[in-house]
Amino acid sequence: MNKFQHQLEKEKKEILEELKKHEGITDFGSDVDPDEETSESEEYENEMSVKQALKERLSDIETALKKINNGNYGICENCKGEISENVLEINPESRLCKKCKATVK
Ligand SMILES: [Zn+2]
Repeated sequence: MNKFQHQLEKEKKEILEELKKHEGITDFGSDVDPDEETSESEEYENEMSVKQALKERLSDIETALKKINNGNYGICENCKGEISENVLEINPESRLCKKCKATVK
C-alpha cells in the first residue's frame, strides 16, 4: 500500500467535513433585505471562493487516489518524470514535479 494513500484519505475526509460545514450558509434565498445586500453578497463571494478552493483540492486528492490505484502515482502530469518524495510529503495530491510546478501555471 502506498504510504501516501492513508494521508490522502484522511485529507479527503477532512475536506468533505469542511464542505459540509459550508453547505447551507451560502443559501440566502430571494428574501434578502436590500440594505444588507452588499455585505451579504460579499460574504457570499467569500464563501464561494472558500468552497471552490476546497472542491479543487478535493478533486486533486481524488485524482491522486485514482493514480495510486492505477499504479501511476507520483508521476508528473507535465513531463512524465518522477515527483520527488520531498514534494509528495508536503503535498501528497501534487500533480506536477518541482521543476514543472515552477514553470507551469
Ligand atoms: Zn514535471
